[in-house]
Amino acid sequence: MVALLCGSVLFACAAPAQPVALDSHRTPDGSQPGSAATSPPAPPESASTSSPEPSTSANEQPATSEQASTTAASGAVSRSTSVGDRRYPRLGSADLDVDHYKVALRYDADGVAFTGRITVAGQFVNATDQLALDNAGPTVTAVTDGAGELAFQQSDDELLISLGSVAPAGSTFAVTVDFASAVPASGSFLERAGLFRNETGPGVWSVNEPDGTSTWLPVNDHPTDKATWRFAVTVPEGLSAISNGELEGTTRDDATASSTWTWDQNEPMASYLVLLLVGEYETEDGGRSSTGVDIESAAETEDVADLDNYTAIVDRQMEYFTELFGTYPFERYGLALADSASGLAMETQGKPLFSRQDLDGSVGYFQHLLLAHEMAHQWFGDAVSPATWDDIWLNEGWATYAEWMWLEREGLSTLEEQAEQSLAGTAHRGGPVSRPHELFGDVTYDGGAAVLHALRLTIGDEAFFDGARAWVTDHMDSAASTDDFQATMEEASGRDLDTFFETWVHAATRPDMFPATA
Ligand code: ZN
Repeated sequence: MVALLCGSVLFACAAPAQPVALDSHRTPDGSQPGSAATSPPAPPESASTSSPEPSTSANEQPATSEQASTTAASGAVSRSTSVGDRRYPRLGSADLDVDHYKVALRYDADGVAFTGRITVAGQFVNATDQLALDNAGPTVTAVTDGAGELAFQQSDDELLISLGSVAPAGSTFAVTVDFASAVPASGSFLERAGLFRNETGPGVWSVNEPDGTSTWLPVNDHPTDKATWRFAVTVPEGLSAISNGELEGTTRDDATASSTWTWDQNEPMASYLVLLLVGEYETEDGGRSSTGVDIESAAETEDVADLDNYTAIVDRQMEYFTELFGTYPFERYGLALADSASGLAMETQGKPLFSRQDLDGSVGYFQHLLLAHEMAHQWFGDAVSPATWDDIWLNEGWATYAEWMWLEREGLSTLEEQAEQSLAGTAHRGGPVSRPHELFGDVTYDGGAAVLHALRLTIGDEAFFDGARAWVTDHMDSAASTDDFQATMEEASGRDLDTFFETWVHAATRPDMFPATA
């Protein structure tokens, strides 16, 4: 399997996708772009000058003209159905700032089809008479607020809820949506994101990055709108449910031979970082890390013993990355060994997902790499999320760079070797690091990490790691862009980095040699 994988070995390679033709409307600070609701979307520009190959990955979603419509003004009110992300124009609504999602799911006997109820609570950012949620799968049966039923419409992967009157900007909302959904029988994580059926038994696993959560839950599906979450998942006898945050409890209902697993994520989390596992899982209390973080993992009953083989590595990695990147950003950490497809891992917040086939109890290069990568994402991706999906290198470049540092520390490879190899493989293809042809291609991972190495050589170790820590503290629990990253690194180094970012980050191709050390 490894031979099929990209340099990062986290995600199997797909051909470069067609770059999309819309420009971004994101505000550089990653906040909700209130202005996007009143300004119309930019007209499509002609496709980039490179000649991309056709996409084989459904995770790349070239914009269509329907998707491009971000906002339909209705008098003075906004009806936003997009936050204006160039790569994924269907995602999010600029009208919403969600605070909390309360989710209840009930799985059928096979652990595959489910009914759900989600309460979405927050504030309107703009005056609007419509509340739009991303909803690309569930069939909605009812929508209510405190006052009664609300009219709704399902179209173009959106759930459009009529408020009946104009809600002013700043006013709060809480709507409850009832829906039914099922996990598709087919499809690989290379083609789509969302829920997948377990490899070997009943139940499901999730990989939601970038747009998968809205294929099974109506949500404001963009990392610029983080919220707290609560999942109460009812599963048939013999199955259990794992999600992010703290396990509040499990209750059994003898009458229906089912149990409900309730998970509370009380730290802000982007929708793509939701973890949902249904299967024969157990939780394992891993005590406390030497850095003082509660460790709680999950694995299928037959795999629980495998977790122990990773305890010491996780502890040492936590110590190492805390030293480099600053305090671990969340209350808890743990591994989820899922009955998921091999070759994929995912940095689900506080509890990254790994395939039980990859973390099978063995400890080698690949396991060190996977564990380092997903832990580093907790700082880069989870605590600080990308402001747009074009900024994905700020997740994957950092996680890959952290891998290299860890592998060197363990004597499993050298950073120099990894960096040289990655630069040679990515310098001349795949598009700009800040706008890669493929979301999860090797320009994003290896190219992004090579750029970080070039930056480190340019500004020196002290400024580089000061900047890394400042990036996390300055944008904690929020989303930030490549321009924000440049600003942080300029401040940390006291240097103007326009030329560096032009040459290494925004240019279509990159130098094939690293700069001399500062
Ligand atoms: Zn990653």
